[in-house]
Amino acid sequence: MIHLYRVPSWIQSLWRTIVWRGERYIARSGATKPCVYLTFDDGPIPEVTPAILAILRSYNVKATFFQVGENIHKYPQVAQQVQEEGHQVGNHTYNHLQGLKSTIRDYLANTACFPNQESLIEHRTSKLFRPPHGWAKPSQLRALRQQGYRIVLWDVITYDYERQRTAEEIVRTVRRYVRPGSIILFHDSLKSAHCTPEALPQVIEYLLSQGYAFCTL
Ligand SMILES: [Zn+2]
Repeated sequence: MIHLYRVPSWIQSLWRTIVWRGERYIARSGATKPCVYLTFDDGPIPEVTPAILAILRSYNVKATFFQVGENIHKYPQVAQQVQEEGHQVGNHTYNHLQGLKSTIRDYLANTACFPNQESLIEHRTSKLFRPPHGWAKPSQLRALRQQGYRIVLWDVITYDYERQRTAEEIVRTVRRYVRPGSIILFHDSLKSAHCTPEALPQVIEYLLSQGYAFCTL
């Protein structure tokens, strides 16, 4: 199986309405620093998300979590912890719905079921959306944009959901492909439990050593 670790620039420029990378640089503590965006999909779940949060906390790093609405309902305390610790939350539909297999009506309805973040913490309402499986019908994405959503995909893919993927491979992927503004895709899911928590401290330490600032979208 061929792995594309970075989305080719011709694809990124073909779909300019999608956010593939964030701001490239940011002024922080008197210096200009390259930005990197850590993103975690498919949580929140008690088996993995708290471990990810503990690592992020220990480095004082903020990330963006694209959550599945059903999991927020099942594990409200984990969802609340993500927000209380200052991370950003995005909508990943209610049931991890595959856009290409659903009607536009079902897709929008499922996305709209995403629990109101205001019920958790008032000041964080999310207008970020990441389509499950990385794609949806253009008509679905267009309709969501009209509702005010920013559609966010990624620049670098770690394939952390693959059973054979190792922490070392994830670290190597990030070292090789990260660039200013990269949005990196990870998961806080059962599929990635064997490698993502192990890789994350090394990933963060590498990015810090390269002067990156951890930003949110
Ligand atoms: Zn997903």
